Amino acid sequence: MKNTDNKVVIITGAAMGLGLAAAKELASQGTNLSLVDYNEESLAEAKEELSKQFPNVKIHTVVADVSNEDAVKKYVDETVSTFGRIDGFYNNAGIEGKQAGMIEYDINIFKKVIDINLMGVYYGMKYVIPVMKKQKYGRIVNVASVGGIRGVLNQVPYVASKHAVSGMTKNAALEYARDGITTNAIAPGAILTPMVAEAFNQINPDDPKAAEADYAQNNPSKRLGEPEEVAKVVSFLLSDGASYVNGQTIAIDGGESNSY
Ligand code: NAD
Repeated sequence: MKNTDNKVVIITGAAMGLGLAAAKELASQGTNLSLVDYNEESLAEAKEELSKQFPNVKIHTVVADVSNEDAVKKYVDETVSTFGRIDGFYNNAGIEGKQAGMIEYDINIFKKVIDINLMGVYYGMKYVIPVMKKQKYGRIVNVASVGGIRGVLNQVPYVASKHAVSGMTKNAALEYARDGITTNAIAPGAILTPMVAEAFNQINPDDPKAAEADYAQNNPSKRLGEPEEVAKVVSFLLSDGASYVNGQTIAIDGGESNSY
């Protein structure tokens, strides 16, 4: 299925995990990509891998920290000067922070999680939406989490930031639907990426595989998700076909968020 053939999509946090999986899925459909990450080395590796696999796709990379407003403006400006437009925006970069109880949580880590997960997502929309408004077309997919739908033990700033992503998604939908822009969020459950591997290390440093097995056991599907299973949904939400889906936070979690 070619959802996004010849479109131009920005992906933040594109060097690994969910961002890289989406880059591969979109590149396989002929989408031109503007890839953003603050990890310069991994971003260069990602570009090399994608260029080899998909030689006909145009790929621009920008090293930028999404919590820095000037850097966000720069990745948006560079995308427009390179490709002339922005059809889709996968506003994905985020961090988990450290696992700790609410009252013990390190305030500096708390603020960093908010700066990246909340402000980074906001800055992205602040600079991408004016471009999409001029085009009278755009598809935005913000990355929330199951932690943006319900609480998650020992992750208070993460949960706060992801609920905020879901809230900002609703507002963008209300404010810019008339401009041909749809804004949705996805809420992945536990998907095996470098971020989640690090979370299992923190939960059970002696036996991270046991922490992973616990998570799988508690999921109705009895397994974790694959990054490609998220990428397929993202590619649909970024496509013309998703034109009347707006302001939604869509769980991709094997059914986990339905349990109590
Ligand atoms: P990951 O750590 O595997 O990859 C994240 C990428 O984002 C990395 O390449 C990293 O360098 C980049 N990044 C982080 N902070 C950045 C910043 N300030 N500026 C630019 N780049 C930055 O993580 P992932 O699992 O792929 O997660 C991607 C998104 O999905 C995050 O927003 C995360 O909260 C969300 N999410 C992931 C899961 C999961 O199970 N993996 C579940 C729910 C939500």
